[in-house]
Amino acid sequence: MARFVFITGGVVSSLGKGLASAALGALLQARGYSVRLRKLDPYLNVDPGTMSPFEHGEVFVTDDGAETDLDLGHYERFTGVAARKTDSVSSGRIYSTVLEKERRGDYLGKTIQVIPHVTNEIKDFIAIGEDEVDFMLCEIGGTVGDIEGLPFFEAIRQFAQDKPRGQCIFMHLTLLPFIKASGELKTKPTQHSVKELRSIGLAPDVLVCRSEGAIPEKEREKLALFCNVRKDSVIAAQDLKSIYEAPLVYHREGLDQAVLDAFGISPAPQPNLEKWKDVADRVYNPDGEVRVAIVGKYTQLEDAYKSIAEALTHGGMHNRVRVRAEWIDAEIFDREDDVAPLLEGYNAILVPGGFGERGTEGKIKAAQFARERKIPYLGICLGMQMAVIEAARNLLGVETAGSEEFDQEAGRKRFEPVVYHLKEWVEGNRTIQRDADDDKGGTMRLGAYDAVLKSGSAVADIYGGTSISERHRHRYEVDIKYRDKLEALGLKFSGMSPDGRLPEIVEVEDHPWFIGVQFHPELKSKPFAPHPLFADFVRAAVEQSRLV
Ligand code: GLN
Repeated sequence: MARFVFITGGVVSSLGKGLASAALGALLQARGYSVRLRKLDPYLNVDPGTMSPFEHGEVFVTDDGAETDLDLGHYERFTGVAARKTDSVSSGRIYSTVLEKERRGDYLGKTIQVIPHVTNEIKDFIAIGEDEVDFMLCEIGGTVGDIEGLPFFEAIRQFAQDKPRGQCIFMHLTLLPFIKASGELKTKPTQHSVKELRSIGLAPDVLVCRSEGAIPEKEREKLALFCNVRKDSVIAAQDLKSIYEAPLVYHREGLDQAVLDAFGISPAPQPNLEKWKDVADRVYNPDGEVRVAIVGKYTQLEDAYKSIAEALTHGGMHNRVRVRAEWIDAEIFDREDDVAPLLEGYNAILVPGGFGERGTEGKIKAAQFARERKIPYLGICLGMQMAVIEAARNLLGVETAGSEEFDQEAGRKRFEPVVYHLKEWVEGNRTIQRDADDDKGGTMRLGAYDAVLKSGSAVADIYGGTSISERHRHRYEVDIKYRDKLEALGLKFSGMSPDGRLPEIVEVEDHPWFIGVQFHPELKSKPFAPHPLFADFVRAAVEQSRLV
């Protein structure tokens, strides 16, 4: 039976709760335990799938096809444990399940209430798979005091009460603001946050305090006394230059020890941190630098392409270089006839995934520039579709080549659909059918699908094999009816779905590195196991940098 660590936040949001949880997961693993991490989000959306990346950052997709919070990406990157549908839930999902049950008559005519019906639903969710791991780490989104969060806080209180003593602990993350004028770290907001928690029946065992500098002894004592935690369970979380140092730094601060102490595990197995020392060494001691232009749409918010930024870092670590990723708004290119002045000087170009027509003409120009100037190009999802449209227009001469997505958005036909709306596909042994008018949520080809690579292709070489499985999140597909003609012109369809109908990878022959993939390789990259495509893309960028 798993032990549970519930992680809550106070004072302000964006303190790095997800990172602290992920680092704790990595440290418990380093001591030989198995872990699973979970995120419980109080917002009312059923899942983040339909939330704008500008608002909520990237949508992280799991193998089993769930669209989840980007914190699940942190969890996977730090623990290597593939997240599942059952690792992320929101109030919206919980309420919609409760209401479905009510309509079905499952509650036998009872009055439906937050306690016990909503809280029971949350508790059942938390307990899924509890026999599978040694530790289950559950992060509650938002901060204590939020109205939406209350059912979750109540549910974890009850959950711990239902379990034998010592099986659940609570970790609370807060901020210690530094007041320049008096030169002091202030503990009062943390005291208030803990007071708020205690008023709803939760007492933290471990207090993680985000602060600019170290926590002086006096403040540590004060926090321990007023927040009723042990002094060595007050853990400082200082700003880091790289998130990948977090496991080592948290270990030095005593986080994993404090957690094990709170469970009364003694003596605890010693951690093996070699993997994380190597990771930190690669991040902090690169031998050079490459510049990669990311031509995308959601460039104002870095979190919108979180996994891509991380996967590029991993690719850099693999090659022992620093990757300087520079975000360029594709819309700027829409207006320019000549994009060369904006793209010269980069060692590689990446066009990420996206939805909608805005910025796509710019992405097509970026793909053309990369193909013609022989600059390494990685097109992900929409980035592959744009590369194919570019080739159809400029190699094949289909001037109106485009995507059905843009016509559908505009409500009129303007393009020859080289990329079309997929309405039927095979998943395992089922055929899935979709309509253009279906709900926006969850009508995509989502999650892990297999692909078969052509032997002798660049991608087969990079992957070191010909069968792969990668995560998808898209509605539209490249049409194979252009395959033969495009292949004859040098754009090879080197990866296909096992039934041979759906193009998964294209690559340009006679080019140092030009690959488009219909899936999202960035979701599976880890600092200690960089995704082969990112590792090789950065290698190609390094090579390109030597030419200039
Ligand atoms: N908008 C495109 C589609 O739905 C690409 C999606 C993506 O890049 N994730 O097919």
